[in-house]
Amino acid sequence: MSSLLDQKILKGVVTMIVICDMDEVICDFTDSMLYLYNKEHHTDVKKEQLTNWALPEDLKDIFMNTNNFFTELPPIDGAIEFVKELHNISDELYIASCPSGSARIAKEKFLWMKIWLPELVDNLVLTSNKQILKGDCIIDDNPNHLKKFPGIPIVMDRPWNREPIENEYRIYDTDYNKILKFLNSYATLY
Ligand SMILES: [Mg+2]
Repeated sequence: MSSLLDQKILKGVVTMIVICDMDEVICDFTDSMLYLYNKEHHTDVKKEQLTNWALPEDLKDIFMNTNNFFTELPPIDGAIEFVKELHNISDELYIASCPSGSARIAKEKFLWMKIWLPELVDNLVLTSNKQILKGDCIIDDNPNHLKKFPGIPIVMDRPWNREPIENEYRIYDTDYNKILKFLNSYATLY
């Protein structure tokens, strides 16, 4: 046993704090960005081609310069039900996302939460530095956040994070049930 959560169970501490990302974990970010990019540039760039976390500037321009881009992102299929169940099984759940240094994006992410998950709007954390968050596990697709987080990294498998991450629990095909089963296996130990 080595994870923070395992250590807490050994010590008889019974809380499970979960940090859950927005883009590419519950919000359909990349396909929405590529749709607008391909329409504007008459191209056919696919998600599988994005093998680096750092996006080219012309792709970034799409979400940096499109008003309401983040407010209008569709949830990934099953995401809202997943977060509600996650809220049930965790003691504390925080939705954490990076606003890319933009007041407009910060506001749009807040509005997205008001629309889709109003009960968790006060649990939204906007930061570029998720390692400062206190939690037992993080569900994310950003290899930088996942590598540095001092808890269990639950990796939402994407073309840009295929390099294995220490102690990772990897989720393919956005299989939310697998995450819930994994966390429930901890919950039943309490
Ligand atoms: Mg993300």
